[in-house]
Amino acid sequence: MIVSKFGGTSVGTFEAMQHSASIVAENPDRKLVVISATAGTTNDLVSLENPNLDSTSREAILLEIENRHLGIINQCEDKQELEKTFRVQLSQLRNHLELPDRDKKWKDTLYAFGELMSTKIFTEVLRENGVDAEWLDARTILRTDSGFGNAIPDINATKVQAKKLISTKKRYLTQGFIGSDEFGSTTTLGRGGSDYSAALFAEATNVSILEIWTDVAGVYSTDPRIVLEAKPISEITFDEAAELSVFGGKVLHPATLKPAIRGKVKVRVASSKKPELPGTLIVHQAKDEPIVRAISLRKDQTLLTVRSLEMLHQHGFLAKLFSVLADHKISVDLVTTSEVSVSLTLDTAHKASNKVELTDDILNELREFCEVEVEKDLSLVALIGNKMDATSGISGTLFGLLENHNIRLVCHGASPNNVCFLVKEGTGEEIVQLIHKKFIG
Ligand code: ADP
Ligand code: ASP
Ligand code: MG
Repeated sequence: MIVSKFGGTSVGTFEAMQHSASIVAENPDRKLVVISATAGTTNDLVSLENPNLDSTSREAILLEIENRHLGIINQCEDKQELEKTFRVQLSQLRNHLELPDRDKKWKDTLYAFGELMSTKIFTEVLRENGVDAEWLDARTILRTDSGFGNAIPDINATKVQAKKLISTKKRYLTQGFIGSDEFGSTTTLGRGGSDYSAALFAEATNVSILEIWTDVAGVYSTDPRIVLEAKPISEITFDEAAELSVFGGKVLHPATLKPAIRGKVKVRVASSKKPELPGTLIVHQAKDEPIVRAISLRKDQTLLTVRSLEMLHQHGFLAKLFSVLADHKISVDLVTTSEVSVSLTLDTAHKASNKVELTDDILNELREFCEVEVEKDLSLVALIGNKMDATSGISGTLFGLLENHNIRLVCHGASPNNVCFLVKEGTGEEIVQLIHKKFIG
């Protein structure tokens, strides 16, 4: 049994859906198909959450959603039935927008419309391609906590539900990104979370292969949108791929590989437009393990620097600092320390629906025991590879290349799989191009 996930662009138009459906049809082992919302729809739904949106803009967004889906529905054989279902969903969406309480729970129910709409249509496209797949509501299987916007899955509860509701004899189509908490409220796993959902379904149903079908032919040496010469990688280790996704490689949601590792699931990333290309296999041991395999870029980083003489020969300062951040659920990515100061990076982007905000309250709490400085508009560049902590010369070459750029913070040595540093937003792309040319070609 294979779990196959298709992203937004792989189901964004009728043609894309046809490509994806023919991939599913080709192999009867592709028993559980997980798809995202049609490309652009989740962004549209996020725009609709703005309480200050005027009615003209709101209608324009709703029309965009309507046209995108009707454009696909109109090319299906059974368009009348599909259009009826879609119109019901659209009016439910309108009703939802009328509700007064726009809290995080309300937002997750709003975002879920994208996946609920796309899956209804894709079930029909699959049927027209000879695949009889049952539409499954992911919320009946994928159990999470109530951390709306960025919910944490409960894999044990999910396994129990999967055992109850998924039979290996049938084929299913379900939604990525969405789940439900113990009270039955809709939750989401954070933007780009369909990859993560698919991996959780793979773990919960004990399958051996997870396929991530996307708009590029696998994992590349860097984002091909930044470097045209980026090369597809045929094999990459779980450790490298995990770091690549955490450090901004959007091709996989950062949490995707955790369930795959736990469940001993093999992962393949490939293009739904060109399924004949080999794509990338994510493995425990790769045939070759180069020092620099890939480069990633993560934007919207915030650097928080705190200074205090209290740090000098004192214990407990770091614990105090991190406990304030932990109390406010702020997760820290990189840390460097000196005798009297600590610099931390915070990711303010990858959970668009649940941004980390350094509020005045938090800053004031920190100011009670140290000086605080906040720098925004930074990007994090990471070199991903192997044995980087034990290879001499990398930093020398790297910093030689970047002599004309102001580097704000460097982390080297904490992991064998990466070296990373912060640069000014706006220079990130150019720096990635420079490093790619030098280290990858
Ligand atoms: P999907 O909708 O299929 O989930 P995404 O847009 O989320 O697709 O992810 C695919 C995109 O990830 C690619 O189009 C590419 O621009 C971007 N990307 C960033 N880094 C990488 C990388 N190292 N390899 C491949 N793609 C990457
Ligand atoms: N549709 C969701 C998003 O755009 C989930 C995903 O595409 O993976 O974030
Ligand atoms: Mg994605």
